[in-house]
Amino acid sequence: MSNPSVPTPMMMQYMDIKARHPDCLLFYRMGDFYEMFYDDAETASKALDITLTTRNRKDPDAIPMCGVPVKSADIYMAKLVQNNFKVAICEQLEDPATAKGLVKRDVVRILTPGMLIEDHLLNDRTNNFIVAIAFHGKTWGLACLDLSTAIFRVTETRSRTAVRDELARIQPREILLPEDFDHNPDKLYFQNIFDRSRVSPVAGPCFLPARGRAVLLEQFRIRSLDSYGIRRAGAGVGAAGALLHYVQETQKQDISHIRGLQLYALDGILLLDDTTFRNLEITQNLRDNTSKGSLLQTLDATVTAMGARTLRHWLTYPLMDIPAIETRHHALGMALERPLVRRQIREKLRQIHDLERISTRIVMGRCHPRDLLALKNSLLLLPEILSSLADMSSPLFTLQGNQEELFTLAVLLDKAIRNDAPVQMDQGGVIKPGFHAKLDELIAMAADGKSYLASLEARERDKTGISTLKVRFNRVFGYFIEVSKAQSKSVPPEYVRKQTLVNAERYITDELKNFEDKVLGAQEEQIRMETAIFDEVRQKAASMHASISSAADFLAKVDVLFALAQLAEEKAYVRPEITTDGILDIRDGRHPVVEYMLTDSRYVPNSIYMDNKESQVLIITGPNMAGKSTVLRQVALIVLMAQTGSFVPASSARISVTDRIFTRVGASDNLAQGQSTFMVEMEEAANILHNATADSLVIMDEIGRGTSTFDGLSIAWAVAEYLHDFKQKGIKTLFATHYHEMIRLASNLPRVKNFSVAVREWDDHIIFLHKLTPGGANRSYGIQVAKLAGLPDSVIHRAGTLLARVEDGQPLWEEKSSEGGEMDPDQPRQLSLFPGPEKIVLQMLKETDPNTMTPLEAINFLSSIRNKI
Ligand code: ADP
Repeated sequence: MSNPSVPTPMMMQYMDIKARHPDCLLFYRMGDFYEMFYDDAETASKALDITLTTRNRKDPDAIPMCGVPVKSADIYMAKLVQNNFKVAICEQLEDPATAKGLVKRDVVRILTPGMLIEDHLLNDRTNNFIVAIAFHGKTWGLACLDLSTAIFRVTETRSRTAVRDELARIQPREILLPEDFDHNPDKLYFQNIFDRSRVSPVAGPCFLPARGRAVLLEQFRIRSLDSYGIRRAGAGVGAAGALLHYVQETQKQDISHIRGLQLYALDGILLLDDTTFRNLEITQNLRDNTSKGSLLQTLDATVTAMGARTLRHWLTYPLMDIPAIETRHHALGMALERPLVRRQIREKLRQIHDLERISTRIVMGRCHPRDLLALKNSLLLLPEILSSLADMSSPLFTLQGNQEELFTLAVLLDKAIRNDAPVQMDQGGVIKPGFHAKLDELIAMAADGKSYLASLEARERDKTGISTLKVRFNRVFGYFIEVSKAQSKSVPPEYVRKQTLVNAERYITDELKNFEDKVLGAQEEQIRMETAIFDEVRQKAASMHASISSAADFLAKVDVLFALAQLAEEKAYVRPEITTDGILDIRDGRHPVVEYMLTDSRYVPNSIYMDNKESQVLIITGPNMAGKSTVLRQVALIVLMAQTGSFVPASSARISVTDRIFTRVGASDNLAQGQSTFMVEMEEAANILHNATADSLVIMDEIGRGTSTFDGLSIAWAVAEYLHDFKQKGIKTLFATHYHEMIRLASNLPRVKNFSVAVREWDDHIIFLHKLTPGGANRSYGIQVAKLAGLPDSVIHRAGTLLARVEDGQPLWEEKSSEGGEMDPDQPRQLSLFPGPEKIVLQMLKETDPNTMTPLEAINFLSSIRNKI
C-alpha cells in the first residue's frame, strides 16, 4: 500500500514541471491522453466543459483530474487559447515500452494566443500579432510579430498616445509587458486596449536594450543592427529582444524564418488615433466589433488569405508619400484597363495557398505532407501569373525573389511527394515511387506480403479442409488465423490457440509469426524512411524561405491591386489625383459602405470642397437623420482610400495629402458618466489637436449633443471657434450639428462656411433629400423627426404647440405665485426657461464675456453653472 501523503514519482515529476510553468495549463502526456491535475483540472474542465474526475479516488487527498485524448487534443487546446489561456504541452520524451523506470517528460511547446501557426487555429484573413512594449529613457518601444508569417516590426515614440493608437491599429492577440508594469501609472491609460488581448508578463531585464541587441544579433546571425537602420539600441530594440526571447522560450523550435526586423516610423503614414480608427469603422464596426459593415469588408475582394491580410495592412497604414501612392494607383489602373487579364489572374490566384504560413510551418518543422503539396501547386502557378503580368510595367508587379530556385523546389516537391499523400506522416504513403530506391524496395516487400498472405490462406484452407478459415490482422495480436467454433475441432496440431471468441477461435503458426516479423518490420522501416526523406525535402524547402516569402509578398500585392481594380470597375470608383496644395475637392462623392447598405433608396452623391483659405471649417446643419454624419465620414473615408492606393467612390477627386484624421463624436454615454469623463475627453482632444497641421482633417460630429441644449450649444460653439483659430491658421474641419444656431458663426469667422443637408417639408412631414447644399438650415425639424421615430401623436401635438409658443416669444410655462393661489394680473408674464436657482446662473452669464475665454475656461465655467442647478 502506498502512503497517501507521499506523492508517487510520477506526480513528483508532474509537480516539478508544473512549477516551472505556473502561468500555463499543463497538458501532461500519459499514453493516449493529456491529463491535467489540481487547479488546472478544475479550470480546464470548466472551460472545456469536460468531466472532472479524481486520481486515487479512495485516497483522502484525491487529486482532481481531467483529460483529453491526444487524437482530438488540438480542438481542446484551440478552445483554451481562444479563451486567452496559455497551454504548456508536456510530452513523453522516450518510448514507454522501452523506458526504464519513470518515462522522461518535458514541455515541448507552449501555446499562447500570440504563438499560433496552425491554419485551423488562426483566421486566415487577419494577422495574428503579438506585441511587446518597452519603456526606456522617456521613449516607448513597440515591437510586433506575427509568428505565422514572420512579419517582425518595431517602432519608437515619445508619446504614449501614439503607443495606444498604434496598439489599436495592430489589434494584437497578446501583449508582453515587463513584470513590474503593474505599478506603472500608465497602466490605466492603456487599460481598454489591454482588455482586448491577453497580457503576458515577462521578466523586466528581458526588455533591456543591450540584452535585446544581443538577442537580435544572435537570431539574425549578424554583427551589427546597422543594416536594419537601427543605429542605437533603445526601447524599440528592448521590446524586439523581449519578444524574440518569449518566442524562443515558448516554441523551443527553429525560428530561423524570422530573418529581419523592419523599423518603421509613425510619422510617415496617414495617422488615425484610436478613437478615429474605431469611429470610422475601418476594420470593425462599432456595434459588435466584427468586420461586418466595416470599410475593410466592403473593399475586400481579395481571393487569397495573403492578399486579405495585406489589404488590411494597407488600410491600417495609409501612405503619405506621393510617389508610393501613385505607384499603387498606376498599377491598379493597368489592372482595371485589362478585364480579361484580370479575370485570368484572379482565377489563378484563387488556387494559391497561404504560402506565408505554409513556409513558416516548414521552417518550424510543423508542416504536414499536404503543406508541401500546396506549396508545390502554388509555385507551379507562379510562372503563369508572371507571364500574364508581363506587359504591365510596375515595381509592384515584379517578383523580387529567386525564381529559378522556386522552380527547382517545385520540381523537387513534384518528384518527392505523392499527390494523394495523407495529412499525417504516421501511416506512410507520402513519398512517390521512384524517388528513393531503398524505399521502393521496402514498399514492394510489403505489397508482396499481401499476395503472400492470400496464398497462405488458400494453402491452409486446402490443407485443413476448413472452409471458414481466414487470415486476419488486428493491432493487439498482429496476424492470426481465425476458424469458426464449429470447425475448430479440425485444426492441425501445429496451430497454437491465441484467443477464444463466442463464435470463433484464433490461432497463430510459426510460418505466420515469421511472416509477421518481416512485414511489420518492413512497414515500420518504410515509415521511418519516409519520415526521414520527408524531413530532407522539408529542410530543402526551409532553406528557400526567403524566396518563398518574397513570392508570397508579391502575390499578396498582386491580389490586393487586382481586387481593388475589380471593385473599381464594379462600383464605378475613379482614380484620385494626389496633390500637396491643401485642397480637398471631391465631386459627387459617395460613402463606400452606406452606398451598398441602402435597400429601398438610392444613394445621393455629395460634393465637398475644402481648403485652408476660405472654406476651411464647414458647419453642416440639418435635422437628425438628414445625412450629416454620413457625409462627414464619406469625406474621411475617401481621403483614406485614396492614400491607401485605392480608387474612390466619386465622379472626380483631388486629394491633398493628409497627415492625420481626427474624429470626435459627441457620444452621449461619455457625458452620462459625468462631467469629469467629458473633461478628460475634451483634454484628450485638445492634446491630439496639438499635433494637427495644415494638412490634417478634423471631423466633429454632434459635439455637445449628450448634454442640455444650452451646454451643448455652447460647447459646440467653443470647439468650432477653437478649430478655426487653431494656431492662428485653423484646421480643415467638417462640423456637423443639429444646433441650427451655429450658422451664425460664419458671420464672425472668415474661413467658416455653412452647409446644410436639405430636407423638404410636405404636409407637416419632412422628406430627407440627403443633398448637401450651401447655406445653413434655419430649423431643427426635431418634432418631425420625433414623429418619424414613432412618438405618440398626443406628444407630437403637444410639442408642436409648445414650440409655436417659444418661437412666438411666449413663455414655455408660467410661474405660479408662491402661495399657490391666483397669479397677480399686474405681474408681467415671465419666460420661465430658467426658474428658481437658475436665476443666479443667468446673472453669472450676464457677467461673463465668452470672447475672452479659452475653450477650457468655457468648459470649466459650464461645469460651475451646472453645479448651481
Ligand atoms: P445625421 O447624422 O444627420 O443624423 P446620418 O448621416 O446618420 O444622419 O444619416 C441617416 C441615414 O440617412 C443613414 O443611415 C442613411 O440610411 C441615410 N443617408 C444618409 N446620407 C445619405 C445619402 N447621401 N443618400 C441616401 N441616403 C443617405
